Amino acid sequence: MKTVGSGPSMRFPLPTAPADGPIEQVIRARSARAGGAHVRRHLPHPLRRMIGAWCFVDHFGPSPRGAHDVVVGPHPHIGLQTVTWLLSGRIRHRDSLGTDAVISAGQVNWMTAGWGISHAEDGENDPGEAVHGVQLWVALPDTHRRMPPAFHHDPAPTTFSVGAARVTLIVGRMGVHVASAPALSPLLGADVLLSGAAELPLEPHFEYGVVGLEGSVSVGEQSLSAGTSVYLGRGRRSLQVVGDGRVLLLGGVPLDEPVLLWWNWVFRARAEIVQATEQWNAGDARFGVVVGAGGKRIMAPAVIETD
Ligand code: MN
Repeated sequence: MKTVGSGPSMRFPLPTAPADGPIEQVIRARSARAGGAHVRRHLPHPLRRMIGAWCFVDHFGPSPRGAHDVVVGPHPHIGLQTVTWLLSGRIRHRDSLGTDAVISAGQVNWMTAGWGISHAEDGENDPGEAVHGVQLWVALPDTHRRMPPAFHHDPAPTTFSVGAARVTLIVGRMGVHVASAPALSPLLGADVLLSGAAELPLEPHFEYGVVGLEGSVSVGEQSLSAGTSVYLGRGRRSLQVVGDGRVLLLGGVPLDEPVLLWWNWVFRARAEIVQATEQWNAGDARFGVVVGAGGKRIMAPAVIETD
């Protein structure tokens, strides 16, 4: 467990911020397909594009199909970081950096695409073992979106208790606790396993969302279960959660940049999308090669006309 001397709330005192506040939006996740699996897509959503730099939230499973139910062939990413967090099951990750790593429940995979990377995912589960988790994307700020690609595996993320909550830090900091993930903008991602009530400390200058994963957890008047999330906006110093279940708390300073999401990429201009599509489909060295993947290479779709 990593600790620092002073919590961020001490560095950003906003005495006018309320301890709690209104729920600004209730989001019913869209149903989507990813890697052959049914997913609940919380972001992007017609009601909300981003929370801080978080720009994509897919909640998948629990799938009871067991072994090899996750097969995602080699595909590229640009301009973002992907975060994989599993509640159960295992997934094998291979990428164009030569990484070959199995992620298990309770561990964090953090892949920085930067200028360009490709990767593939395959289930590594025992028969009957459910695969259940989330995949999130973080838009890289303009200052870092062309950086070299990188991969970070955290086998034992920081875990601590707050009231009746067991909190696992995927990224960022809460109170004195700090995650090891390499975030490039002010960001929080925390798994909150709850059996009772807890008051979680927040940063008033962050905006927040809470994603229901399992069971039932109440935020104010709103009950959250799988498929439902809330957007809380900014200005809170704490969040009261009550119930039996599990939620994902996401937060960050709003990314004040015109982010374009297309396929597996985050860009700022359409011309960049056209170039990347041509490069990936032609096998350009920008994205490297994934060795040993179980699935077929996934081609980029044609770029639609927007004008
Ligand atoms: Mn991917």
